[in-house]
Amino acid sequence: MTIKNNAVSLILDAGDEKELEEIKLQFLGKSGTLTLAMKEMAKLPAEKRPEIGQLANEVKQIIEEAITNVGAGFHTQKIEKIQKIDVTEPGIKPSLGHLHLVTQAIEEITNIFENIGFTRVRYPEIEYDWYAFGALNFPDNHPARDDWETFFIDQEPDPKKGPILLTPHTSSGQIREMEKQVEEQKKTGNPISIKMLNIAKTYRRQSDVSHVPMFHQFETLVIGENISITHLKGVLDYFVKSYFGPDRKSRIRPYHFQFTEPSFETDVSCGVCNGKGCKLCKEGWLELGGAGMVHPNVLRNCGLDPSIYTGFASGWGVERVLTMKEGIEIDDIRLLYSNKLEFLEQF
Ligand SMILES: [Zn+2]
Repeated sequence: MTIKNNAVSLILDAGDEKELEEIKLQFLGKSGTLTLAMKEMAKLPAEKRPEIGQLANEVKQIIEEAITNVGAGFHTQKIEKIQKIDVTEPGIKPSLGHLHLVTQAIEEITNIFENIGFTRVRYPEIEYDWYAFGALNFPDNHPARDDWETFFIDQEPDPKKGPILLTPHTSSGQIREMEKQVEEQKKTGNPISIKMLNIAKTYRRQSDVSHVPMFHQFETLVIGENISITHLKGVLDYFVKSYFGPDRKSRIRPYHFQFTEPSFETDVSCGVCNGKGCKLCKEGWLELGGAGMVHPNVLRNCGLDPSIYTGFASGWGVERVLTMKEGIEIDDIRLLYSNKLEFLEQF
């Protein structure tokens, strides 16, 4: 049959799926050649109809099969084309994460202090009142002990060490460290020498654009014979220049803390105006945090003789130094812990 041969040769020559669809219409469509020929069968004598009809159906089936097979071939070609690897094509970069900003800052701070011989320590963040306040020379009625300032754990207080709380500062680590060293001294007889860096989470009942209820502090404690304010100033200036940059200056100014005497606030010269004074700093300085010479009562509470040993301590905020660092401006400190990738990916 010429219809069959015509159709099959056209199908085999088809260049793409679109051409194949046109051939299908040409033969099997409403006005297709085969469709019309089948309609013509009505005019045939009745006895001829079944034989011709069967033949016509066979032709239809052959054409349909040919179309299906050639069509499947086009589909395979398409997939092969997609799967073919073009080695010259630029690759898709896998998205790499990075350490959280706070973790990066903690690592940097640790390196800076380790370079001058400090040892990083960790102490409990769920602590007795004695370590967080009592031994640090806080009077019983100090407002920091208020429910509105500190998170207390709902548990029976220890008869000697008092209620249990979440550490509101890293200074509790000072007491733990001195106690530990005094214990060791009893065994070894060696003089006490402490250069501690305590970085930990601290907890306070606060939450606004510049405060979060959980934040990090880094605490230094240096104890030995003849440790003076000069050592404190030296370490402060070394840290400021290492962390913020060699052009930044540091200063100390008198302040009051329970556990240090004398006490200071420490400042860093503003990186935006270089200490000239601007909208951010007002008078050229940005506040870094507290520091001071360890109070004799605190030394005594840990079993150290203040006539032999002196020392200094400082407690500064990790999030604070991070946001103070040039180039990192964060309007709302709570964003640091929001888990928003759009925010974290900027850094
Ligand atoms: Zn400024």
